Amino acid sequence: MKKCLRCGHINKDDALECEKCQFSFKEQAVLEELKKYTTKEDPIVDEKNKSSLIDNPVLTFIFGILSIMLPFFLFSFLTWYMKKKPSKTKLIPFRNIGNVFAYIGFVLSIIIVGYFIWNLIF
Ligand SMILES: [Zn+2]
Repeated sequence: MKKCLRCGHINKDDALECEKCQFSFKEQAVLEELKKYTTKEDPIVDEKNKSSLIDNPVLTFIFGILSIMLPFFLFSFLTWYMKKKPSKTKLIPFRNIGNVFAYIGFVLSIIIVGYFIWNLIF
């Protein structure tokens, strides 16, 4: 017994389309397959079909945030650290330019992270 998705008519098992509305059962199979991926609920995935051994959304979120934040902190720290060391007088302008770039990067990073979080929430 096959139940038509469109009209609810009960058809024979070997029917290729609905007797009442001619809705194709081939199409119905595709629609039911698609339903697995379009429903709001998480699909049930076999252990062997998972792309990663670690399937933890929270960890993925934290590592994702860290991957944005880490270079930002690293280079901010390096700029701050290098600034503290005594410079050769001739190279001071280069240090100052680097410092300005670091501040620009700092502001841009905050804007980018803020934009991501804004899109995530709203
Ligand atoms: Zn039908």
